[in-house]
Amino acid sequence: MFDVFIGLGSNLGDSANTLLSAIDTLNQHQQIRVKRLSQFYQSMAIGPGEQPDYVNAAAHLVTSLPPEDLLDIMQAVENQHQRERGPVRWTARTLDLDLLLYADHEINSSRLKVPHPHINERNFVLLPLHDLQPSLVFPDGVCLIDLVKQTPRTGIAPLMAYPPIDYP
Ligand code: AMP
Repeated sequence: MFDVFIGLGSNLGDSANTLLSAIDTLNQHQQIRVKRLSQFYQSMAIGPGEQPDYVNAAAHLVTSLPPEDLLDIMQAVENQHQRERGPVRWTARTLDLDLLLYADHEINSSRLKVPHPHINERNFVLLPLHDLQPSLVFPDGVCLIDLVKQTPRTGIAPLMAYPPIDYP
């Protein structure tokens, strides 16, 4: 079993419920167990044009699935939640699932880059990860806590109605 951390985001539709539904769907998979879901955050969209704010979170999973198989499942869950894939990246979406960390593996294939390339720079990734496991160390030896100390707190606010959840 491998410890995995994923990022979740949505800025179309009922975003908070979409994230909860996505986590439930992943947890129903025989080879995936959800351990903990972070607090939810409201964050300003980065991307083209005017876009609604995002709801972001992260989750700690354990899985026996290899990374590319897990990505297949994550993309199927995105599609089940009316995710539309257009030619332009970073447009508004009902559900975005990113594979942030897969144990201490470093992957650089055409389909999959792990750790996720933007993991170090984005407060809407770092703060939810910190809710899950403050002692996390990335494969390159960088400590999550050091990045969290430096990351700006602009454009992001915790959603108090959605605190972290531990799964049995
Ligand atoms: P996005 O538009 O951000 O959802 O990007 C999806 C694309 O990124 C897919 O074609 C994936 O194959 C690719 N990708 C590369 N690395 C990752 C990763 N760590 N997690 C999710 N998607 C990834």
